[in-house]
Amino acid sequence: MSEKRDYYEVLEVSKDANTEEIRKAYRKAALKFHPDRNPDDAAAETKFKEATEAYSVLSDEQKRAQYDRFGHAGMGGGFDFQQAGMGDILSQFQDLFSDFFGGFGGFGGQRRRRGPERGQDVRVEAQITLKDAFEGTKHEVGIRGSAPCDTCNGTGAAEGTRAERCAQCGGNGQVTTQRGFIMFSTTCPRCRGTGEQIAKPCADCSGTRYVEKKRKVLVTFPAGIDSGQTLRVPGQGMPGPANGVPGDLYVDVVLEEDERFQRDGHDLVARREISFPEAALGTEITVELPDGASVAAEVPAGTQPGTVISIRGKGMPRLDGRGRGDLHVVTEVAVPKKLTRRAKKLLEELEAELAEANGKAQTA
Ligand SMILES: [Zn+2]
Ligand SMILES: [Zn+2]
Repeated sequence: MSEKRDYYEVLEVSKDANTEEIRKAYRKAALKFHPDRNPDDAAAETKFKEATEAYSVLSDEQKRAQYDRFGHAGMGGGFDFQQAGMGDILSQFQDLFSDFFGGFGGFGGQRRRRGPERGQDVRVEAQITLKDAFEGTKHEVGIRGSAPCDTCNGTGAAEGTRAERCAQCGGNGQVTTQRGFIMFSTTCPRCRGTGEQIAKPCADCSGTRYVEKKRKVLVTFPAGIDSGQTLRVPGQGMPGPANGVPGDLYVDVVLEEDERFQRDGHDLVARREISFPEAALGTEITVELPDGASVAAEVPAGTQPGTVISIRGKGMPRLDGRGRGDLHVVTEVAVPKKLTRRAKKLLEELEAELAEANGKAQTA
């Protein structure tokens, strides 16, 4: 273990600093290095633990006096800050933290609870097609992270062996020693506080019980789901250390672009080409929905380019199951680029006819 730094040095106060100065110094350090402000920053966590340890001693008159006389050797006591998890520290010293953070160590309040530390939440992104969103689907989502080792079933012991109670501490994780007239207990150096000893560690996880691996989680995407929405899968985040509850998995949904449809909330918009005669005479068209089903729509005679034909209740399903949005078909009138001789002649006749009819209409 590395050499412990002097507590006064850690808090950057002088040896004769008063209670208020020590309190202020710790508050400054704790706010700066608090894990909620420095997620996944091991160096900050170490500093936070160091400062907390220093403050837990220097803020207590008796402990401070003992530390002043005997230094670190006089402390020895029970709690190993650098080995302990953040959750342990925050719950063990909640009285100390409540002074500063208005309760329970975390800035958010209820994030930290008593009892074993909860595993971390995991956030992933998943792309789905419009068809998936239309029908609802189940998809496997890949996650990288630590998971219980399969080889040893999470025990850390090699096949055919198992974890034994630690011989040095008898399984309670702490050893008590006497130095001079002071009795103190420390984390068992042999099992590092776990109370267990693994004679022959599992080769795959080196006895750590967890391995880094890719695992797949089957996620249900309900019909009607859209980009920007997040699904929560309870218990599929990181495993909790030491029997803690696992975290949750959050899946951010991204809807892929679709060639045929644009989505507008619960509505679907499709473009559809019709010929000039169809637009003029009226026709019936069928539109294939994302799930393959088709719906018929009436195109009335005299339909203009860009007219929107809306079909109620044929859009995307609503997430709450209360019906569906609408389908809007934007009509595009196709103008032929190549004409046969006969088609050209017919169009010329049509033009003459329309001009005459138009003239009659205007003089009438
Ligand atoms: Zn032990
Ligand atoms: Zn293993």
